[in-house]
Amino acid sequence: MTEEHASVPVFLFVRARASSTRASLDDDGSRTGDAIRARTHAFIRASHLDVMSAPTRALEELLDGYRAYRSAHFGDGSRVREDVDVRGKLDALARDGQKPRALVVSCCDSRADPALVFDAREPGEIFVVRNVANLVPPFEGVGASREGGETLAAMEYAVTRLRVPLVVVMGHTRCGGVAASLQKYDDGPECDPHAFEVNEATGEGFIGNWVALARETTRRTRDETEGWREMSASERARALEREIVKQSVKNVETFPFVASRVASGDLVVAGAVFDVADGTLRTLDDDTGEFTRVDDGVSS
Ligand SMILES: [Zn+2]
Repeated sequence: MTEEHASVPVFLFVRARASSTRASLDDDGSRTGDAIRARTHAFIRASHLDVMSAPTRALEELLDGYRAYRSAHFGDGSRVREDVDVRGKLDALARDGQKPRALVVSCCDSRADPALVFDAREPGEIFVVRNVANLVPPFEGVGASREGGETLAAMEYAVTRLRVPLVVVMGHTRCGGVAASLQKYDDGPECDPHAFEVNEATGEGFIGNWVALARETTRRTRDETEGWREMSASERARALEREIVKQSVKNVETFPFVASRVASGDLVVAGAVFDVADGTLRTLDDDTGEFTRVDDGVSS
């Protein structure tokens, strides 16, 4: 809660899914209403407070950046930011320290760059950790050493030290890591359980070790998705890309330092998938498990 946003309507985050709570969202006519509804946590309007919660504001700012990106590259340019000041912002950040609005966990894929998608052209806007297929392992005890430790260290720093109000796991379409997991753990004719195994001669094997983090999600998606056998390879990949984001969001929330801040309303964990073919973003609605395209004002 900060004084400079005193004129903005307020939402309080409550970790609840009661239908009465959800119904209270439906009369929200603000520009960010759809985006906010696209997230699991229920928001309760508290009109007696005249400020906006930090997670709500962070999400609005992030999606405003996305809309600027869409406007610049797919629309009429009417929402392009003109006040970008890299040098001045860097001066201030070097002096005062960073305070990014969000941690974004995304894939290494060169087509799905969070800074581009969220129009984060000034330094200090978002804190990013990237790995193959945006995988976040679950909490398995303090100090547990395992694949994904680098990602977890970045997440711990962003949440506990930088105190970001928002964590976004952003997957993307046509993900090579997802394809690798399907090849290894799906059971179609094109699949190979020995794919990406360790090869002493070439030194390969890191991909196989890494995508093992997605093994259970891949098998569960295969087993639980209706019509999986009739789906094309690209349809299966589309389904798994989304399930991996959903699982990573759940896994982020298993960390006590995350869960406590979510419970207090100081942090929200959100999921999204970026489509590398058309440049659109879909956000996860935890109530339905569906991904909904963010309204960006661009028709294409
Ligand atoms: Zn990827």
